[in-house]
Amino acid sequence: MKFNDSSVQSHMTMGFVTVEPSASLPDILQTITEAKAPCLIVIDDDKPVGIITENDLVSVLAANQLEGKNIADMHAGDVMTSSPVTVHYSSLLKEAFVISQSHNIRELPVVDPDGYLMGLISQNDILDAHFNMLDELQTLSMEDSLLGIGNRRAMEMDLQYTHNNALRYQRYYSIVLLDVDYFKKYNDHYGHQEGDRVLRLVSDTIKASLRSSDRLYRYGGEELLVLLPETYPLVAAKVVERVLENLEGEAEPHCESDYGVVTASAGIGSYEPGCGKEWKALLELADAQLYSSKQRGRNCVSWQGDKGSLAAEAV
Ligand code: GH3
Ligand code: MG
Ligand code: MG
Repeated sequence: MKFNDSSVQSHMTMGFVTVEPSASLPDILQTITEAKAPCLIVIDDDKPVGIITENDLVSVLAANQLEGKNIADMHAGDVMTSSPVTVHYSSLLKEAFVISQSHNIRELPVVDPDGYLMGLISQNDILDAHFNMLDELQTLSMEDSLLGIGNRRAMEMDLQYTHNNALRYQRYYSIVLLDVDYFKKYNDHYGHQEGDRVLRLVSDTIKASLRSSDRLYRYGGEELLVLLPETYPLVAAKVVERVLENLEGEAEPHCESDYGVVTASAGIGSYEPGCGKEWKALLELADAQLYSSKQRGRNCVSWQGDKGSLAAEAV
């Protein structure tokens, strides 16, 4: 379902049950019981002329029990609510909901412009559709539209969640910042559209190189962030080395790069139990390490324990 697909037609059920006005009450009782339907629609020439709900039947049966009448003599026309409130198939779900609320009815027959019966929509159908749409909107609000991966909002929420868990259960986790190398030159040479395509290639390649428990986000521009829960710095470095190798292995031409193909550089910030660092501090650390990778010539990864990076700079 798409969140903007909110017409009655898309959410009505075709599994409605109909009876003719001449149907006898025993037949109606048998039909509604067998079909386990919440209501029956009474049709004449395929147009709804009445509706019979479980409530209608209970009321009629209770009244007749008291008056001692024979239900076998009664027909749909005696039991139904005539001229039922209907809704047009192209109406919006919201209109159907307002109609059902204002008339205090749970089931609405759906009709075409000539009044022919097309389906049935219930308040439950409307609420289901509404909550599904909310879920979809929630997902969309967490996703980057170009790359189809988590956006910054999703990233911040997941980082906080992972951090809280690490704090409570004394766990490691690692944050990786990845930045495409010479991407400005790539855009300048190949054009922005191609740049977008390459960003998707980079994102897809990274995603394919990660475990399912690892998460990838667009941090901004051509920078991506990988969250590696339960991961020591050294293990994170191995993972990122593999990611960078896989990207280079894609051999996507980049004639303006020293490497001749599209590559990326990375920096890691790791949480170690008791280190007292918040995730924002780890992000700063990862950023500093990324800078270090750029300084070292790009297409590489740096982390705190990496002798080739910050340690080398300190010398
Ligand atoms: P470095 O190797 O040092 O990272 O160099 P760089 O050129 O990649 O870095 P810089 O920060 O100078 O340039 C980043 C470029 O990324 C500039 C910007 O136009 C481009 N960019 C950011 N977001 C997008 C995007 O969504 N699509 C495209 N095509 N380009 C983008
Ligand atoms: Mg950048
Ligand atoms: Mg860059």
